[in-house]
Amino acid sequence: MDLGLQGRRALVTGASRGIGAAVALALAAEGARVLAVARDQARLDTVAAACPAGAGSISARTADLAERTAIEGLAGEAATIDVLVLNSGGPPPGPVSEVTDGTWQAQFESMFLSMVRLTRLALPGMRQRRYGRILAVVSSGVVQPIASLGISNALRLAVVGWAKTLAGEVAADGVTVNCIAPGRIATDRIGELDRAAAARSGVSLEEVERQSRAAIPAGRTGEPAEFAALAAFLASSRASYMTGGVLRVDGGMIRGL
Ligand code: NAD
Repeated sequence: MDLGLQGRRALVTGASRGIGAAVALALAAEGARVLAVARDQARLDTVAAACPAGAGSISARTADLAERTAIEGLAGEAATIDVLVLNSGGPPPGPVSEVTDGTWQAQFESMFLSMVRLTRLALPGMRQRRYGRILAVVSSGVVQPIASLGISNALRLAVVGWAKTLAGEVAADGVTVNCIAPGRIATDRIGELDRAAAARSGVSLEEVERQSRAAIPAGRTGEPAEFAALAAFLASSRASYMTGGVLRVDGGMIRGL
């Protein structure tokens, strides 16, 4: 299937590793010209170097999503893009009852406001050209809240509510807005969370990993490329009538309908 992404311009945030890097590579493999954004230039360069020969391209730009001015610095690029993939770092784990105002505010800036701000910069051009694909990476926690990730459970639902409202506002202009909820995708972040869970509970890392696998009907964690395949489809011209959704890439992990 030709996804029609040849020559399309995409901007992917949180693209120096994990899900964001995989999405950048998948879009480039389909011929898109991708701007990969994160804080670490060296890691972004590694992702750009992995761009397959004969594909589109990946260029890198450093920006801290928690800083309003850094996002404003992307205004020129954002104005010309067709595909915006909104992805950020996850919050620290721990009891939600102990989260301070400072942590809530900092996470709100990077996990929610960064998405709103970048979208505001990209939308006028998308509407004018009558083609836009906005994808927000959220979490299985928006359907089935995850213990010890209360910041994520709360702020990602804000993203879902915002995205759904926006989808209705821009659908007639050829712009779609969707959220993708990963279950457990094998990235550094998952390793970090498992190590933190093992330390908190006094259980071995191997046991934490075994228990999480046992909760996934597919019997394994997902690969970043499996997540990226859905992102590439939703970014494509083929997904023109899909908007306002929350799609799961979870191996069946989320129990609710
Ligand atoms: P990750 O931590 O491996 O990667 C996050 C990326 O965002 C990295 O490139 C990092 O450098 C970048 N980043 C973090 N903070 C940033 C900032 N302030 N400014 C710019 N870039 C920043 O995470 P991942 O596993 O690839 O997951 C991506 C998102 O999906 C995260 O928010 C994560 O919490 C969420 N998520 C992931 C899973 C999973 O199974 N991997 C499950 C549920 C939710």
